[in-house]
Amino acid sequence: MPIRVTIWNEFVHEQTNEAVAKLYPGGIHGVVADMLAEQLGDDVQTHTATLDEPQHGLTEEVLDQTDVLTWWGHAAHDRVDDAIVDRVQRRVLQGMGLVCMHSAHASKIFQRMLGTSCMLRWREAAERERIWVVDPSHPIAEGIENEFFELPHTEMYGEFFDIPAPDELIFISWFEGGEVFRSGCVFRRGKGKVFYFRPGHETFPIYYDANVRRVLANGVRYVQPAGARFHGEGRNIPEPLEPIEAEHEVDQSLHE
Ligand code: ZN
Repeated sequence: MPIRVTIWNEFVHEQTNEAVAKLYPGGIHGVVADMLAEQLGDDVQTHTATLDEPQHGLTEEVLDQTDVLTWWGHAAHDRVDDAIVDRVQRRVLQGMGLVCMHSAHASKIFQRMLGTSCMLRWREAAERERIWVVDPSHPIAEGIENEFFELPHTEMYGEFFDIPAPDELIFISWFEGGEVFRSGCVFRRGKGKVFYFRPGHETFPIYYDANVRRVLANGVRYVQPAGARFHGEGRNIPEPLEPIEAEHEVDQSLHE
């Protein structure tokens, strides 16, 4: 069964800024769809959704058919309807994977899943970024040939990054200007996993970089639903599997 991925993009800068449109002519969602097809082949089936579609393209039907949702947003986080954020959060808690890319650190859904501001320091000076692999045996680092890889021109994101301690930390970035950043993190929420990956930015060709493409594809594969089937919501079990010899009468009406 292929992994069913919904690639969400606010799709604003590509339509309003010439430089971004030139770099990502089919939209960033188009580049992500191409990279997943290139990296995962028949193991993936992609679908795209954007902000301006009804319900932002994230209807119940679409989410029901989604194993992993990828998220790109930058200029229009506030325009995402809270009811859709509720719906996406619910699906993640049920087991859907979520991959938040670069400026999605400030998206409503990422903040909702983490419960903190998720804010950070930034600078746009086209500086070098060195991304260190700090968990080399992690499946998301699969195929990275060295202890680190580099991107020649990036926007800097620096600590303090206001996130809860990640459940899994895979990459730490160092920037030419001196800052460091937790740039590849996994958070487990309910039955779902959330992967945050820092590299990106609409005016640099980051999503054409081979290592970045590999990591994002690994991330999609890693956060897909896994493990035992979910056995329902929390509930009262008045009839036990085995008989219990109670020493006291229990008034069940108090426990319903
Ligand atoms: Zn950026």
